[in-house]
Amino acid sequence: MRILLLGCNGQVGWELQRSLAPLGELVALDRRAADFTQPEALAATVRQVAPTVIVNAAAHTAVDQAEREPELADALNAQAVGVLAREAQALGAWMVHYSTDYVFDGSGTAPWTEDSPTGPLSVYGRTKLAGERLLQQHCSRHLVFRTSWVYAARGGNFAKTMLRLAAERERLTVVDDQFGAPTGAELLADVTALALRQACARGGDGLAGIYHLAAAGETSWHGYARFVIDFAQQRGVALKAVGEAVQPVPSSAFKAAAPRPANSRLDTRKLRAAFGLELPAWQCGVARMLTETLERTA
Ligand code: NDP
Repeated sequence: MRILLLGCNGQVGWELQRSLAPLGELVALDRRAADFTQPEALAATVRQVAPTVIVNAAAHTAVDQAEREPELADALNAQAVGVLAREAQALGAWMVHYSTDYVFDGSGTAPWTEDSPTGPLSVYGRTKLAGERLLQQHCSRHLVFRTSWVYAARGGNFAKTMLRLAAERERLTVVDDQFGAPTGAELLADVTALALRQACARGGDGLAGIYHLAAAGETSWHGYARFVIDFAQQRGVALKAVGEAVQPVPSSAFKAAAPRPANSRLDTRKLRAAFGLELPAWQCGVARMLTETLERTA
């Protein structure tokens, strides 16, 4: 298997470098080597590498910024995906791609299935949905993993921001009317490798499709923040804002350029059944990431 990984320095891309390496020859390219705003050069790069699998972890992920630069978001999240999909099809290759809970309008409380009607609220959501469709249209051997609330140990993340703010301030306010499952880049990368191996081994395009992939369980951003702060407090980290000082507020308390879906719950039964996998509770991955973070800063 020759795998071309794009966006290799992002949260998910970085973990994919680790999880895909045992599957075969891995060519991992960053933005400088494969720029999604240059479609012709991107296509030429794919032809030159001639992979049997393309894994695309690159995207325009700055959700509020995307409202101000819709053309760039469309170029990265949709048009470039179409270019890659056509090249993958010409090579007979598999293409793995990531999408988001933002393709939904966030209504209701039931977890979204792969067949649920889409209704993106933002430029980011609309362009990600367009990318999914281009991939489905142009490449038969596709795996699209829709995920939510991604974090990674490397770089900044919500948990680290909460710990910093809780150390600086007497009181914190966190949104409690958006629900989803924090999902680790590690988990996404590991499941990608396991699923890809099965898809390739099966032959044909039998396992191709869209799958929801998120950690098990659900919480609000407030519940997530409380978990992080309680965890750190129990391990002796000096914090000012703990317990009831971490206060729940509605989304309307924060002015964001892009509306967020209130219901980001993803039903993962299709993925678990198709690939025979279990998805751990969201707290497992967050606790692991926090342990590493706290050990590093101790
Ligand atoms: P990151 O923002 O961490 O990484 C995105 C990557 O895209 C970066 O490596 C970035 O490069 C690269 N990139 C940006 N612009 C270009 C360009 N012009 N050409 C080539 N590469 C470019 O994203 P995540 O790892 O968090 O996201 C991975 C996937 O998961 C994406 O498809 C995203 O939509 C999806 N997703 C993410 C969620 C989240 O909460 N983060 C939630 C749901 C889905 P550089 O490092 O140089 O900036």
